[in-house]
Amino acid sequence: MMQKTSKGILTLTIILSLANLTVKAQDLFSTYDCRQHADLFYETAVEEPVEIVTSATEIAQAEPEATVVIDTINGWQQWSFVQNFTYGKDRGAMPMITDLNALHPYFRDRIKQLFADCEAQGIRLAIVESYRTHAKQNEYKVMGRKYTNSGAGRSRHQYGLAIDVVPIIDSAAVWEDKALWKRIGVTGEKLGLRWGGRWKKPYDPGHFEWTGGLTSTNLIQGMLPPVPEDQYPCLQEDLKLLRKYWREWETAQSAITRK
Ligand SMILES: [Zn+2]
Repeated sequence: MMQKTSKGILTLTIILSLANLTVKAQDLFSTYDCRQHADLFYETAVEEPVEIVTSATEIAQAEPEATVVIDTINGWQQWSFVQNFTYGKDRGAMPMITDLNALHPYFRDRIKQLFADCEAQGIRLAIVESYRTHAKQNEYKVMGRKYTNSGAGRSRHQYGLAIDVVPIIDSAAVWEDKALWKRIGVTGEKLGLRWGGRWKKPYDPGHFEWTGGLTSTNLIQGMLPPVPEDQYPCLQEDLKLLRKYWREWETAQSAITRK
């Protein structure tokens, strides 16, 4: 009797494995469409030039249109951003980009996982800043050591490879809870991220980054961290569009500098 049952389970297992193989084989033979994976950059179709919205609330309130098209020209304007003091701290005059889409795709996925893993522990995180322009980095540099030690080009934020977060309790940003930071930091480290809470100058517990082993100099030279290609088959296309959007933001923020 026992033998019969285990035989049955074995047969079922084989059938299930075969079914799984069939699906994989289908995936292998269908043509790969990179744009299916680019839905991060989908945005609403617009007739006239859009005025740049000035707050995340306005973006949230904007009604979505029925038709969606891939906008490779103005997609950067859809990125969420926040103004100074949104999370109670002085972060300079230029707005901070808070959109996950502004990050390198591989790093972005690790950060999504960080948010999920923290959520599972009952910790809600907000994004303070994701991608950072050279103009914004220079602003921090001028604001002093408390903000950054890195000049333009030397921060991981400028390559979409760093993010600043803060835990939110009762709708308020909690900056001073060291034990809470430690839990968040360790969660990020388990995902292979470098955590700014290990640094002394400045102690930067909201900061996470990943460079795949590359140095600042490598990044300045234009090198990109190695990423498993089978998981990110559209990486090059996505990065090309991302770089274009970064440049658009750069232009917009250097205009702020000149004012
Ligand atoms: Zn940072």
